[in-house]
Amino acid sequence: MINFKISGKALVICLCLLYGIECQSQQLIPPPFVTKEWQMENKPFRIVGNLYYVGTYDLACYLITTSKGHILINTGLAESVNMIKSNVESLGFKFSDIKILLATHAHFDHVAGMADIKQMTGAQMMIQERDAQALADGGNSDFVFGGKGSTFKPVKADRLLHDKDTVKLDNMQIVVLNHPGHTQGANSFLFDVKDDTKTYRVLIANMPSMQPQTNLAGMEGYPDIAKDYAYTFTALKKLQFDIWLSSHAGQFKLHEKHKPEDGYNPQAFIDRAGYDETLGNLEKSYLERLKR
Ligand SMILES: [Zn+2]
Repeated sequence: MINFKISGKALVICLCLLYGIECQSQQLIPPPFVTKEWQMENKPFRIVGNLYYVGTYDLACYLITTSKGHILINTGLAESVNMIKSNVESLGFKFSDIKILLATHAHFDHVAGMADIKQMTGAQMMIQERDAQALADGGNSDFVFGGKGSTFKPVKADRLLHDKDTVKLDNMQIVVLNHPGHTQGANSFLFDVKDDTKTYRVLIANMPSMQPQTNLAGMEGYPDIAKDYAYTFTALKKLQFDIWLSSHAGQFKLHEKHKPEDGYNPQAFIDRAGYDETLGNLEKSYLERLKR
């Protein structure tokens, strides 16, 4: 028998240390802002083939299902985890079958639920290398929102992604495209899905929007920001796809294209003109701000 002796004083120190570590990991500062639309429920639906919308009213979360498990892209706010879980379940899928977690970028409104979902499902978290630090420190190193502490539970990624990497699960092959600017590691995802009649090329684009605080002359932690935005506008314009979606429902006008009572209709999301127009408007604001 091992005789394990520990003094009362040492025990107190140990408990304090453990408690301190626990407290530190739980101490989150509130997100800089949230909107009502980000928190509102939204009826989940099948977009096309094995791709489903499981997000909130405005924070888009996508479920890609396969016979070997599922992929979840984005989470919404931390408070929305149970909503996303019940959305997945109401479509007839098991939340615990989620094997891979991806994100369009490491801002609190898209990754704040990752830590909890990773714990609940045991899924592998994959993030663009250039957003891995912000994900790992709960957004504290983010060049716009960082510096005051973690705004979401930190997650250490299991795999770091690079531009043009492929994420594979069963018959799914998702090409990851780094579209920096909004964050250094902002990602779009390009992949094919099939239904009974057709194969569709889907683009989940991280649209290059700017924060009010974004300074294109260069920011601490992101000196080359203007150059990155310019690259991203050029790269996004060149992409070919049938269906486009984005990080926020409002960006691709989800609620104009799909009503809760609508049935399966992938055609509603075929909208090259809307994509070009949205991108054009964002580029206009970028060029105007660049002149200032
Ligand atoms: Zn963002």
